Amino acid sequence: MTTIGVLGLQGAFREHVRSVEATGAKAVVVKRTEQLKEIDGLIIPGGESTTIRRLIDKYEFLEPIRQFGKSGNPIFGTCAGLILLASEIDGSYDVHLGVMDIKVRRNAFGRQRESFEADLDIEGVAEGFNAVFIRAPYIEGVGENTKVLARYDGHIVAAQEGHYLACSFHPELTDDHRLTDHFVKMVEEAKKTLAL
Ligand code: GLN
Repeated sequence: MTTIGVLGLQGAFREHVRSVEATGAKAVVVKRTEQLKEIDGLIIPGGESTTIRRLIDKYEFLEPIRQFGKSGNPIFGTCAGLILLASEIDGSYDVHLGVMDIKVRRNAFGRQRESFEADLDIEGVAEGFNAVFIRAPYIEGVGENTKVLARYDGHIVAAQEGHYLACSFHPELTDDHRLTDHFVKMVEEAKKTLAL
């Protein structure tokens, strides 16, 4: 059975567990680095990226998560999770995991639009996807191997680079589980390759 870990240091991790379970995969909340051995893919949830980073440092997750990804295990970052995956953060010298070739801007939709919902077309994944944005970042630029999956108002809000997936919004807060399902399929594919 495919097991998806959800990093459970801060943020919307319980909702991700519910969404993973709705796809039929097994979900576990990851709070200790040893648990990375028991999972096939990892979701880094939304929340507050600076707080999650502080806890990543406190529980010594930074290198183990990087290694987990480098070994070919898929990682999905949503909202704050996207910021944690990025290799460049606009206006900041601080990069967190830095495993994905994207440049992000935090709180990018401005104060007037702290949170909103939009119907998105996510390439190869879903049409009319009900996306919930909460103090969301967007992606300002992507590297040549990174595929743009969705835009909102002209801004990139979902992208994939090999086994790394990221989105600006919260795909776990509604009953639309198609993006989570896409990630579970990425994990199943990676599992086959890693088993060879
Ligand atoms: N604005 C938050 C940050 O910069 C992200 C918001 C979210 O994850 N909903 O970390």
